[in-house]
Amino acid sequence: MVISEFKNEPFVDFSMPENQERMKSALKKVKQELGKEYPLIIGGERVKTSEKFKSLNPSNPDEVIGILQQPADKEVTQAVEVAKDTFENWKHTSAKERAGYLFKAAKIMRDRKFELSAWLVYETGKTWPEADGDVAEAIDFMEFYAREALRYALHQPLTPFPGEINELRYIPLGVGVVIPPWNFPMAILVGMTSASFVTGNTVILKPSSDSPVIAHKFMEILDEAGLPSGVVNYLPGRGSVIGDGLVGNPHTRFISFTGSMEVGLHIVELASKAQPGQIWIKRVIAEMGGKDCTIVDSDTDLDSAADGVIAGAFGFQGQKCSACSRAIVVDSIYDEFVEMLKIRAQKLKVGMPTDPTNYMGPVINERAFKSILNYIEIGKQEGKLVCGGKALDRSGYFIEPTIIRDIASDARIAKEEIFGPVLAVIRAKDFEDALNIANSTIYGLTSSLYTRNRKYIERAKDVFHCGNLYFNRKCTGALVGVHPFGGFNMSGTDSKAGGKDYLLLFMQAKAISEKL
Ligand code: NAP
Repeated sequence: MVISEFKNEPFVDFSMPENQERMKSALKKVKQELGKEYPLIIGGERVKTSEKFKSLNPSNPDEVIGILQQPADKEVTQAVEVAKDTFENWKHTSAKERAGYLFKAAKIMRDRKFELSAWLVYETGKTWPEADGDVAEAIDFMEFYAREALRYALHQPLTPFPGEINELRYIPLGVGVVIPPWNFPMAILVGMTSASFVTGNTVILKPSSDSPVIAHKFMEILDEAGLPSGVVNYLPGRGSVIGDGLVGNPHTRFISFTGSMEVGLHIVELASKAQPGQIWIKRVIAEMGGKDCTIVDSDTDLDSAADGVIAGAFGFQGQKCSACSRAIVVDSIYDEFVEMLKIRAQKLKVGMPTDPTNYMGPVINERAFKSILNYIEIGKQEGKLVCGGKALDRSGYFIEPTIIRDIASDARIAKEEIFGPVLAVIRAKDFEDALNIANSTIYGLTSSLYTRNRKYIERAKDVFHCGNLYFNRKCTGALVGVHPFGGFNMSGTDSKAGGKDYLLLFMQAKAISEKL
């Protein structure tokens, strides 16, 4: 089989009537399927438990998206045992075979794009383009990691040594626990899971309790692609209940986590304690939160900067780890720029994500809703409300796009991750001051700088301390292969998802030397 060069999956153009029709009919079809019950999948067996939980529609919390099983210790242990046994065979399959499953799954996902986007609209409140972006990125991850697995399986160059034949092989680690968040419930989940199994590991996939049904859709796709039973095991369930059992199990070899700093640090700590019977140091890949920013210099196209800040701050309701939650604006254009932001934010339509005229949908759940509104109250004390500031007077977790100005660089809303549609605007004396403010949080994920000043761009390349730095564009929207993604400091282990180094995190190198 000839494998073409990796190319990013194009986004659906929803301005075309035929695509609008396809999305509408997918929404209609999926609506009929809401409320079904989904089993655990352990070693290919469909398992039901006595305790259940529900996944709800954040736009309409009375609507049940699906009913899920809540596993107990027994199922956790069983899933690890099955993954451990399956690993014994799976580790010997060729990279070509493993990559083949990903190519097939990517094709199936491409064929089911609209339907999967519809599930994302209902389960996570994504608007059409946000849902489509999530599915496109999932396809990209599979296509990219399949090619990468084939590359790592090739002969690895070593320095020749007389009288010896030397070889270096990348081999898998073992049983991996994959714990993704709900905010990219297709892309991040698929990326972390695919990277784990295409390198020869077996997986226990514990999706977020806010998006377990979309995870089940991925399991259906893997099944259709012919992936052998037990390679990926599906174990939804509250992280607070089953997380420690999975992470702490002595047979768990690695944990691939993406989520909040609090949970990430807890996992790192627990994984570092060797359990009785454990014979390795567990590896933890932890990608965590952000307090990302955009610096706006005076020498720039202010319209383009305002558009970039608004898209970064309010796309998917500000619930991206890369979301622009701080605009750091130099003094000379500060008032004018805040006004430009206000005009744009007030035009954003908030409402049901099933309706394509809405730019923003709901936030994910009641806990997030309350926490974001609480941060808005804190922000009102710490600065001056420019626009927004309230929930919509209707059911569902809808919050207005909110901008708060005159925030001090050490204020709580300038430091803590809010994960909602709240933008703190901070005045900087000059560019150098803006850089210092930008670097003054515990995080270091994404940042953007709008300027025409070449010296500032070069200076920012040197001192802006973040994993993904952008110039004259928004700080969200990383593309697989183009912008390898991951952050510094408390944003995580900088694993660079979608990059050429990523698969190394799921393997170990074996050096083999034979004397002639
Ligand atoms: P979260 O609350 O930390 O949850 C993430 C995952 O961890 C979920 O599957 C969750 O399960 C699970 N979990 C919770 N407690 C656990 C425990 N004690 N042990 C093991 N697993 C546990 O984060 P989230 O709200 O889903 O996602 C938002 C966060 O993710 C934000 O901080 C955002 O910045 C970050 N994020 C980072 C990146 C990145 O690349 N750096 C990308 C996307 C998101 P339950 O749902 O069952 O609680």
